[in-house]
Amino acid sequence: MACAFRVSRSRVWSARAAFVSVFLASAGMALGAPIFSYSPDTGTVEYGDSDFSKELPSDIPDDQVAANGLTFNLYYQDWRDTRAAFGFDNAAATGPNAQNRLKDVLTYVANTINETGTIDVLVDESFYNTVSGSAAASAGTWYTSDPGFQMGSTLERLRTGAKPFPGYEEIHVSVNFAINWNLSTNAPSFSQADFMTILLHEMTHGLGFVSLCASTGQSAVSANVYTVMDQRVRRRTGMFPLFAGSPPIFQGVISDLTSQSVAWGGTEAKSLYGQNIAPGLYAPTTWRQGSSMSHWDTGKIIGGAVMESSVSVGVMRRTWKPVDLGGLIDIGYTSIEPPAAEGEGEGEVEGEVEGEAEGEVEGEVEGEVEGEVEGEVEGEVEGEVEGEVEGEVEGEVEGEVEGEPEGEGEEEPGGCQSGKASFEWDGIRYNLGDLLLSGLSLLALAAFKRNGLGPRK
Ligand SMILES: [Zn+2]
Repeated sequence: MACAFRVSRSRVWSARAAFVSVFLASAGMALGAPIFSYSPDTGTVEYGDSDFSKELPSDIPDDQVAANGLTFNLYYQDWRDTRAAFGFDNAAATGPNAQNRLKDVLTYVANTINETGTIDVLVDESFYNTVSGSAAASAGTWYTSDPGFQMGSTLERLRTGAKPFPGYEEIHVSVNFAINWNLSTNAPSFSQADFMTILLHEMTHGLGFVSLCASTGQSAVSANVYTVMDQRVRRRTGMFPLFAGSPPIFQGVISDLTSQSVAWGGTEAKSLYGQNIAPGLYAPTTWRQGSSMSHWDTGKIIGGAVMESSVSVGVMRRTWKPVDLGGLIDIGYTSIEPPAAEGEGEGEVEGEVEGEAEGEVEGEVEGEVEGEVEGEVEGEVEGEVEGEVEGEVEGEVEGEVEGEPEGEGEEEPGGCQSGKASFEWDGIRYNLGDLLLSGLSLLALAAFKRNGLGPRK
């Protein structure tokens, strides 16, 4: 169903085309061994020099997570900077819960990947970006400039037991605290982005679920430097490898990268996906730096997956889906104990909506929206609200809907990019349209109203 399902709610991570290459800043710089990090979701490239600049604080970690033989050292830049309390700071309202949820996620990661060793995690300064479509978070790991299919510094440290780049973290992550986060262990509300869901996504990038492919097919960081994930990328037709050779080069044509027909060539992901077809990789018709190629084919993975390029507010994905696990196994996390391939889709949508709608919705809506929203909503809300709606829908939505719905729901080029505004008020209109078709969504509308998300003028 295309990607209409996310029209009614915001995606909570997305790519900014902030493609920053600071390498080559000065030809005269005395360079040690150049290294690069790449952060999907923002598409940000960082340049490092393992001989000179040190990114990781040199003192003891601020905190640790130790589980199942694996230790994550945590360094919080929010604790170390001079800004007012914000983000992960202890004194910030968000701090303690944000820290605890990060630790919850890392505990899950440790218990699932079954690796022994130590990983340094740098929690970069939190940011606050309200611009529609801005990323909710980003994360990445480090690579050398040596041509080849690299695993990234996280997996390399686990494999060798040695820190690949002293002075650098293996995983860095930063979070946008402008997002309406659910920082609790409870399910998110209809309007909240689930912190653990997004952090698990980001940590998966930090583990090396990353493509370094740029829009041209060249490496985004350094000539002929790709990842073990890129090594799995296939043109679906003929399952032709798009990156191959020694040193690896892009073997395809640029249009492959926006063909919506790119597949994963690893055997475990296909097997665990359980659909008798290789899972697709995200290759929307408009290249999206940071999102394209570094995620599953968003919106088209049956049952959904943690490593889709966006997730809707209100959705909770705190554990990897089988296809995610298969992808991790294929790129080298071979100690994962794969689940039996099974139906997906569990645990997607926890109902936070119940009980909020009583006495809210009645009467005023007819005639306003009909004919305007139809055709964009079908099949969207059903299954999320159903079962919680019965008998709750009377009351008042007066005067909120007039004249609004037209023109909504068009996809931006590349699809599936609905901005923040659309989950607040625009989302109501979609749900309302659905209501008129199915009678199911009044509850959602009323829930929005109760949550204070009134119409935006
Ligand atoms: Zn991502």
